[in-house]
Amino acid sequence: MSDTEYENASQRSSFVGQVFDRGEKIVKKRILDTLPKEWSDLHINGYLHLHDLEAYEITYNCLTFDIVKSFPFNKFEGISSSRKIMKVFDFYKDIITKIGNEQSGGMSFANFDTDTAFILNKLNVDLSDYNRNILRDQINGFITWCNDGHERMGKVSYYVSLNIGLGLDVYSQTICEYVLDEFYNSPVTNIKPNIIFKLKGGINKNQNDVNYYLYEKAVNCTIKKMIPTYLLADCASNKLYDANKLAIMGCRTRVVDNVFGEPTAIGRGNIVYLSINLPKIALEIDREFKDRTIQFKLEEYYKLWKKIAISASEILLHRFTNLTKLSKSNFPNNVNNNLWITSFKEATSLDDVFKHGTLSIGFIGLSEMIEVLTGNKYYESEENYQIAKDFVTFMRKFTDELRLQHNKNFSLLATSGEFISGRFPSIDSKEYSHPVTKKKFYTNSFHVNVDSNLSAFEKVKFEGYFHRLTNGGCITYIELNSAPIGNSEAIIEVIRAAETAGVHYLGFNYPLDICNKCGEKGVFDFCEYCGSNDILRIRRVSGYLEILDYFTSGKKAEVKTRRPNQVK
Ligand SMILES: [Zn+2]
Repeated sequence: MSDTEYENASQRSSFVGQVFDRGEKIVKKRILDTLPKEWSDLHINGYLHLHDLEAYEITYNCLTFDIVKSFPFNKFEGISSSRKIMKVFDFYKDIITKIGNEQSGGMSFANFDTDTAFILNKLNVDLSDYNRNILRDQINGFITWCNDGHERMGKVSYYVSLNIGLGLDVYSQTICEYVLDEFYNSPVTNIKPNIIFKLKGGINKNQNDVNYYLYEKAVNCTIKKMIPTYLLADCASNKLYDANKLAIMGCRTRVVDNVFGEPTAIGRGNIVYLSINLPKIALEIDREFKDRTIQFKLEEYYKLWKKIAISASEILLHRFTNLTKLSKSNFPNNVNNNLWITSFKEATSLDDVFKHGTLSIGFIGLSEMIEVLTGNKYYESEENYQIAKDFVTFMRKFTDELRLQHNKNFSLLATSGEFISGRFPSIDSKEYSHPVTKKKFYTNSFHVNVDSNLSAFEKVKFEGYFHRLTNGGCITYIELNSAPIGNSEAIIEVIRAAETAGVHYLGFNYPLDICNKCGEKGVFDFCEYCGSNDILRIRRVSGYLEILDYFTSGKKAEVKTRRPNQVK
């Protein structure tokens, strides 16, 4: 097992995990052998990447629970209030365990605080001091459980996201506060669950807003633990929607518009997705048309991208359609729990359920693509920035056309670097000798390079534009060189600038080293307090906080290259 290249971080070895890994390889090979050769070749040669390939025709990707609708209120009759609180969290853990093994990706709570408050209220659990203590304990236990469990596939923890911040009643506010407090106060550095603070004017964003104190708590927690991240509900692409219906799933997935109903994230998820390798297409065009103008190369680039994207859409439709041909009995826990926007149990076909989910075409390496075609990075000149904006607009138009043409929820996804950030350049470097393949990773989606040295304010300005276009999800990170202790005003300032720039989802990263022996925190090779070299190194590259030792080689290369974005 020691030579395993982990496909996503936070994996651990166990008997079940080893059997899974071996089985997974066989399943992936079988799928590639059965697909039309043209499609398999696109994946094998790194033009695109079929995510969660082992799940092809077996399961969907992710789901934001409709937790209130699925809650079994009738099972809670005749028990004490304290017992009810405990059982609510038992129910959450049970659902996560069951659904987490029936799908390939993450699970999200769109309004963890308000939904839990609604459930407890309906169960007649009052907020007495005694119940408050139990509630706090349970939230603490739930966070620990999400963080520590590695039951999934015998090796990984569940990808759980809790969206919070909008509740205006005391119950919801209390739960939101406890989530932030327990995370903040935890003596260990939790890397799960992912917590997303929804920021909305009139609720929590401005100093005179009722929940402003929760925003301040959130920022202080981010400063200490890198969590939460921020869903900016007032930004250009979000402000037209009901913030209660917006949610982040996992590291960035966004599901809002629905061909089959009202826009909402609740009870829906991403069903199938893949990512296109933008730099590879650029390398090919650049080699073929070496002496031609940039304009000519761009025209050829558009043509080749479109050709690959058409195949990509065919693959997604094939994967989606074959998934809907499965029997509901393949998803017993989805049948028994009413978590989807449409009743899984009563649906006449799986298409009735899955049609509400998204089919996403992702991309990685916009920066390298522009660099290869023009010789400069997209944020280095107005012309190049325009080229980048035009191209992402073009990709979005393409997925919008697919929506109309196929009456399916196609979307454009700004893919995280997970695995492919290293896989793509390692394939491309065998064929092309270009500086972009030599650094061993491609830049996340539309991000500026991690060593751009741009300030936080410049970074959000450049990247904000693309947030409006990538309706399948995206994130902008601000890299700091260390934990910004005592600098909450600067963080709030950056969040404000990000919202104005159109950023829809924002996170703050900084390297965090923790001495396993004495608990000292900072950034160091050896513990500065006790001298130990037993150090836990926590980093965030593709959405979740993870432990550096478990990173793929591409992500390790990215971490080494990162330079901070100044916030002053
Ligand atoms: Zn130490």
